[in-house]
Amino acid sequence: MLSFAYYSDWKNTAFTCPCGWQGSGSGAEDGEEFKDLGEWDCPKCHERLFIVFWPTREETLAAAAAGDSEAIAESENIKYSDSRDEYWSKNKLTSPAQLPDPGDGVIRAGLTTEETASPPYPLNPGLEKDTQLCLVLNGTVVHREPVWYETIEPLERILPVLHEKYGKCLTSIFIGEPACYWLLGDRLSMLGKYEEVLTKNGYAKLQPIRSTGGKWVGDRWVRASEPDSPNPVADLENWRESYGPGFLGFLVDERLAIRGPGDEARLTVECDLAEVEFSLSEILDHLQSDARRWILIVRTLSGPRLYVQVLVTQEGGLWAECVSDFYLEEFGLSEEQCEALPALGWEWPSPPAKQNWHFHDELMNTGSAISGLLVRTFRTVFHCDDIDPLEVVVFPSSNNK
Ligand SMILES: [Zn+2]
Repeated sequence: MLSFAYYSDWKNTAFTCPCGWQGSGSGAEDGEEFKDLGEWDCPKCHERLFIVFWPTREETLAAAAAGDSEAIAESENIKYSDSRDEYWSKNKLTSPAQLPDPGDGVIRAGLTTEETASPPYPLNPGLEKDTQLCLVLNGTVVHREPVWYETIEPLERILPVLHEKYGKCLTSIFIGEPACYWLLGDRLSMLGKYEEVLTKNGYAKLQPIRSTGGKWVGDRWVRASEPDSPNPVADLENWRESYGPGFLGFLVDERLAIRGPGDEARLTVECDLAEVEFSLSEILDHLQSDARRWILIVRTLSGPRLYVQVLVTQEGGLWAECVSDFYLEEFGLSEEQCEALPALGWEWPSPPAKQNWHFHDELMNTGSAISGLLVRTFRTVFHCDDIDPLEVVVFPSSNNK
């Protein structure tokens, strides 16, 4: 079989087929293509006439230097892909040194994506914006890198780096819907591989996470049990059992990792006062460090709907409110309750601007101060005890006033 280098004269070479066809190589028809070569066939009987080896990078650059117009065009692609590779290797996460040092507690990782609008975008030069894969640790984005469609390469590369840096402190990873969309593409071919990579790295999958609207928002993967850590669990109820009262902090961190529309990040969960007390301070700290504006509401589930709520501004300001008679209609607060509220530090309602009891103090703008105020309000004003059922609602607020 005749074979040619790609940048040789095969297009002008004369061929004669046993069937009688005669013509130049450029008149032959494209046949099967393989990784290293392509076949050219007789246009009359479709038998194979000759093969051509695809050019190597060096052959293309040499042909371009010699003035071949096709090679010159192709060498532009090579330059583009080189600059892309260089950009990529500079930005991807490959070393534990690129990650922040661990604090004391557990680390919950998350993968999500973010659109960025700061050119240039070597990966997508034609686009107005670029999508980046974001690594989130305990609610804070710590690393961004370019993302390709339909590849689990980032997972295979990033998980070992995380394990090396954080060891057993890393307990779980949440892979949000946007990250799944990028990594898995249509999911048909990638889903098995995705699950295999996580399983191989020691993770077990929790029940897929849904927003309160029932929409799938991502998967949480928990690292397989170590002797001194909770077992991987199969659903949210077990999760609560395994993680104890700290599960509430888990749920909120998971919402913090969701970068999609606000309704996807909305959390509504029933719990008791002891669970709220256990996690509220840390939850408020985490909401404060997020760049969005959040609202957190804690309310009673039995009797009149008594509630306290906190607005967490983008700048980290904590503005607390406690329900007043204005919203309680027939069930007003008693005289004794109205005396207890200011004693705890609440400011009187000042309608029409402020219908509720309110509290904000720059010197006490911390998760622990506000958490303490809220929990004391439930205990001493609303007369709740540890096991009274409450509802916690957390959501990002789009209202920028
Ligand atoms: Zn022929």
